[in-house]
Amino acid sequence: MTRSGSVRRAGRRPKRKTRLLELPVLANLPVPGYGLPRVVIAGKGGPFLRPNPLSDFVDEDVLSLNHVSGCAMQCAFCYARAYPRYAGDAVLTLYADAAERVRRELTQRSHLPRAVYLCPSTDPFPPIMEVQEQTARIVEVLAQFRVESWLMTRGFIRPSILERLQPHADMIQVTFPLMTRNERLRRILEPLAAPTRMRLRQAKDLLARGFQVRFALEPLIPGLTDTREQLVPLLDAIKALGISSVSAAYLFVRPGIHRNLENQWEPFGLANPVLDRYAEGPILPMGRIAAARHLPRSDRQRGYALLMALAAERDMTLHISALTNPDFSMPSPAIRHDRPLRQMQLGQGRSWTE
Ligand code: SF4
Repeated sequence: MTRSGSVRRAGRRPKRKTRLLELPVLANLPVPGYGLPRVVIAGKGGPFLRPNPLSDFVDEDVLSLNHVSGCAMQCAFCYARAYPRYAGDAVLTLYADAAERVRRELTQRSHLPRAVYLCPSTDPFPPIMEVQEQTARIVEVLAQFRVESWLMTRGFIRPSILERLQPHADMIQVTFPLMTRNERLRRILEPLAAPTRMRLRQAKDLLARGFQVRFALEPLIPGLTDTREQLVPLLDAIKALGISSVSAAYLFVRPGIHRNLENQWEPFGLANPVLDRYAEGPILPMGRIAAARHLPRSDRQRGYALLMALAAERDMTLHISALTNPDFSMPSPAIRHDRPLRQMQLGQGRSWTE
C-alpha cells in the first residue's frame, strides 16, 4: 500500500528477491527515545464489559474491557494506535471508577462471563503505576465474582501489583507476546515495552506463583522476526520455562498501521522492505474488526511451516490465529476457546497447505 493506504499497482516496483532483512543496518543508528504519555482521568460512557472484538465468534462466556484509552508502549504495528479516534501518544486516558462500574455491571448480569479479556486496545501493565493499580483493582473485582482475567502484556508487572494479584493467581491468565531476543531490535519494534529477558523472568516468577502463563510470537514480521535465527532463541527460552505450546500470528496492515510503520521504521530502513512484502497480499475480513491487508498466503504458509518445524524439534505445539488467517482451510482444526484470540491448534507434522 502507499502512504495513503491505496494499493500499489502490480509491476510498478520490481519484485524483491531477497527475503531476509539486513539486521546490520540497525547497528549504526541511534534508537530514538520515546516519552511516556501524560495521564488524564475521564468518565466513560456506555458499559465497560463488551463482547471481545478480537474474536471471530460471539462467545457470551468471554467478554472484554478497556479501562484505558491509548497505550504507553508505542509499537508501530499496533492496530489500536491506528484507530481514527486514537488521541495520539502524548495522552493516556484512564477511565474513572472503572473497577466499581465493572462490579455494578457484574451484579446486574443474569449470567456471569467465564472470563474477561483486559484490554484489547491497550496494555494493562505499562510503566505507569496508575494504570497497573487500576488493572489490579479490576482483576480483584472479577475474582470476587469468580470470573477469570485474561491479560496480555508487553510490560512488566510491578512487585506491589503482583502481590495484589497473587491471591487470585488461579483466576489469572497472563499472555506474553514476544518478538525478538535482540534488545536493540526490540527497542525499535516495541519502544516502551519491557525487555524480552524481563518478560521471560517475570513469566518464570508467575509460573512459580501458580499463575497461568502463555506465550505468543506476535506479530511476526516477515523477513525480520520470522527467521530461524530469531525464532530459535525465543522457542528455547520458552521451552526452558517448561511451556510446550506457543501461538503465532503475522503482522496485518491497515492504512494507519502503514503510516506508523513508515514513520517509526523507515529511519532504520525497515519499513519499505516489510511493507513491500504486503503489496500483493490479500485484504481479508477479520471477524468483527475491520478487514486488513495480510501477507500473501504462500508466505504465511512458509513462515508457519518453519515455526512449526522448529517447535516440533522441541516437542512444542504451535497454535495459529484463526482471526489473522481466515483464508487457511484447516484439516479439522481444534479451535481453542480458552484463549483471548480464537486459535487453531496444529498437531506436529500436520499440513494446512491445501
Ligand atoms: S503494547 Fe499492545 S496495545 Fe500497546 S502499543 Fe504495543 S501492541 Fe499496541
